[in-house]
Amino acid sequence: MALANENYFNIQEIYYSNEIEKRVNAYKLLHPAADIIRLTTADVTHPLPKEAIKAIKKAADEMGVAGTFRGYSPAKGYDFLIEKIVKDYRTIGITIDKECVFINSGAKPDLGNIGHILGIDNITAVAEPVCPMYENSIIISGRGGYVTKDNKWSNIVYIPCDSTDDFAPNIPQERVDVVYLCNPNNPTGTVITKSKLKEWVDYAIRHQSIIVYDCAYQGFLSSPDVPKSIYEIKGAKRVAVEIHSYSKCAGFTGLRCGYSVFPAELQVYAKTGEKIALLDLWTKRNANYTNGVPYIIQRAAEALYSKKGQREVDETVSQILSNAALIKETLTSRGLKVWGGVDSPYVWLKVPGRQSSWKFFTHLLYESQVVGIPGNVFGTSGEGYMRLTGFATPDDTQAAVDRLQKVKL
Ligand code: PLP
Repeated sequence: MALANENYFNIQEIYYSNEIEKRVNAYKLLHPAADIIRLTTADVTHPLPKEAIKAIKKAADEMGVAGTFRGYSPAKGYDFLIEKIVKDYRTIGITIDKECVFINSGAKPDLGNIGHILGIDNITAVAEPVCPMYENSIIISGRGGYVTKDNKWSNIVYIPCDSTDDFAPNIPQERVDVVYLCNPNNPTGTVITKSKLKEWVDYAIRHQSIIVYDCAYQGFLSSPDVPKSIYEIKGAKRVAVEIHSYSKCAGFTGLRCGYSVFPAELQVYAKTGEKIALLDLWTKRNANYTNGVPYIIQRAAEALYSKKGQREVDETVSQILSNAALIKETLTSRGLKVWGGVDSPYVWLKVPGRQSSWKFFTHLLYESQVVGIPGNVFGTSGEGYMRLTGFATPDDTQAAVDRLQKVKL
C-alpha cells in the first residue's frame, strides 16, 4: 500500500485564489456585462524583450543542426550565462565564484527545494505578511513540526511586520536556524534597508543560522539605502543563499529561468557538529533532481545582459513601476495609507475604517469592479490590508485608477 505524504494535507496553497475567483464569479453571475479589472496579478503582461526573442530563434536554429545541437544542459547551467551573472555582480562590487552560481527554472522551485538539503528539525522563521509558498514548502518537506493551539506550526517562527516599522522584519527574540527574507517584499512592496539587513546577517552569524534571501524582485530596486544583493553586507557569504529570477523584470514567467548563489563559505552542521558546505549538498541535490534548464531559455536569459537587452528590461521595469506609482498616488490622494510601489510592483494599502480585508475586497468589487487581494491571505498580520499590483497593462491600470478616484471609500 503506497502511503501519501500527508504533509500535503496541511497546506492551503490555492485557497485564496479559489476564494477570490468564487467571489468574482458570483458577482459576474449577477452582473454579466461588468468589466472587471484585476489588480491582483503577480504575472507579467508586458511582452518579452525583443533581444530575448532573437536569442530564442537563433538557439532554436542551432538545435536543428548537427554541429550546434545541444542535449542536456550542465545541471548547474551553461558557463555563457553564469559568466554574465558573475560579471553583473562585479558591477555592484561583489565577487562571486562561478562555481557557486546555479541556473534555476525560476525562483520558486529553488525556494521550495532548498528544504531537501536542510535538516527537518530546523526552526525556520518567516516574516508575516508573507507569500504562502515559504510556509507551505516548510510544511510539505516535514519541517513544520506540529500544529499549535493557535493554528500555527511549532517549528515556524512567524515574525509579524507592521506599519510601525514600514513592514520591515525585526530580529526575533529567540534563535532560529533558517530565515526566509524577501527584498523587496511580496505582498507589502516594502524593502529591507542595508542597516536592517546587516542586523540580520550579524544575527545569522551569531546563531550559525542561514538566510534564504529571495531576490525575485531585485530588478525593481533603486533606493540607495537598499542593497541590490545581500552580499553587499559584510559577512553575508557565510550565512546567505541568494535566489534570483528573470520572471518579473524581464517577463520570463512563462520561460522559467533565474539563478541561485550558494557561496562556498556557507556552512551547515551535521548532528555530530561537523561542518558541511551547503554548496556541496546543493550540487548533489542538483545532480539527482535536475537535468538543467533548456539551452534555448538560457540563451534568452543571456541576451538580457546585452546593451539592448538591458535597455528593454529597464523599459519593462519602468512601465510596471509607473503603473504601481499611479495606483499609489491615486490611493494616497484618496486619503488612504499606502506602502510599496516605489522599489516594487506591489502596492499595499490599509483598508479604510475598521473593515476586514474581505469586506473591503467585496466593496471594491461591487462599487468599482476592481479586484485586489485581501491582505489576510498573506497571514494574520495582513488583516485590514489589501495588495494591488502594477503588473496589469497601462490601459487597465489607468482604467482602474479612474474608478479608484471615484469609488466611495
Ligand atoms: N518570490 C516571490 C516573492 C514571488 O512573489 C514569486 C512569484 O510571484 C517568486 C519568488 C517566484 O517567481 P518565479 O518562480 O517565477 O521566478
